[in-house]
Amino acid sequence: MQLDNKKKRAIALFSGGLDSILACRVIQAQNIDVQAVRFVTPFFHYDLLQRPGYVEHIRKKYDISVILKDISDSYLPMLRNPVHGYGKHFNPCIDCKILMVREAKKMMEQFGASFIISGEVVGQRPMSQRKDTMRIIERDSESEGILFRPLCAGAAVKPGKVVLENIVDCEKLPNFSGRGRNGQIRLAAELGIKDFPNPGGGCMLADPALGKRIRDVFAVSPEVTIADISFLLLGRQFLLPHGSWLAVGRNQLENSRIEAQYVSGDYLLRMKDRPGPLALLRFLTHADDLALAAGLVARFAKKIKNQPAAGLVRVKGKGGITELMAEPCLVDVSGWQR
Ligand code: SF4
Repeated sequence: MQLDNKKKRAIALFSGGLDSILACRVIQAQNIDVQAVRFVTPFFHYDLLQRPGYVEHIRKKYDISVILKDISDSYLPMLRNPVHGYGKHFNPCIDCKILMVREAKKMMEQFGASFIISGEVVGQRPMSQRKDTMRIIERDSESEGILFRPLCAGAAVKPGKVVLENIVDCEKLPNFSGRGRNGQIRLAAELGIKDFPNPGGGCMLADPALGKRIRDVFAVSPEVTIADISFLLLGRQFLLPHGSWLAVGRNQLENSRIEAQYVSGDYLLRMKDRPGPLALLRFLTHADDLALAAGLVARFAKKIKNQPAAGLVRVKGKGGITELMAEPCLVDVSGWQR
């Protein structure tokens, strides 16, 4: 077929997994520039923002130009009330994809791109990669005709601008569908792509325990911040009866990380006279939770004669530093643990 021979560029949604790598490479193979973008939030891949050399690593390893973009500011409000609901855990996969496509669309002009690609494969995931939901993602991100899935070009979409304007040659693209990976692995071998990451993983919202923890914190706080999500990953976590959230350090490293999370409005607790954990209390609405937090600090502190013991707990909070005499809280805490 006769392709439009003016050099084109695509923005690629890049997850770092094999499918997104293949999507970039099969489009590049048609003499089209690809600018990949890896979106990050505190729920997935946030650590990459601190990892020097990531961009260069992807360029060298897969010959893909990628940038990182933090979309937390738009992601956090969406997560509270996703139009299309949640998956099995706290994962709003359809709204997540819609948001990413919208963000990619905003970048098209900056990069001189005429379309967007993603490595989605029809039938591969139960929520966001069904034929009907893939159409919804196009519709609700207002990218009908410009969002193109090169790994299933024939199966998933109505022909859009990319196909109608002969920007790509669909005959030369794969036509994967379903959950199997053999076709992708074979194509990777043909393209000389080795050592690619395993599919899935890496999203806390789809993890049963972390998803539940994040759901709970959204339920107790009307405004959840990026710092709140980092706080949720530290130490032993408790949701106390009046809705305060407590993180208790299990070792020195966690204690120092917990201390670094302290912000105005929090309470930082530690034993005054014997070694013990550092604990951070957030979203306090009732004094009983502060007393319980002090009791838990006493419970997990160094035992006296092999028994948890009472002691003075120093509390740094709104009114400066105070001291509380705390009995160790010895009740069954399994219902508070998160
Ligand atoms: S698993 Fe997480 S990152 Fe992936 S689509 Fe769902 S919510 Fe988004």
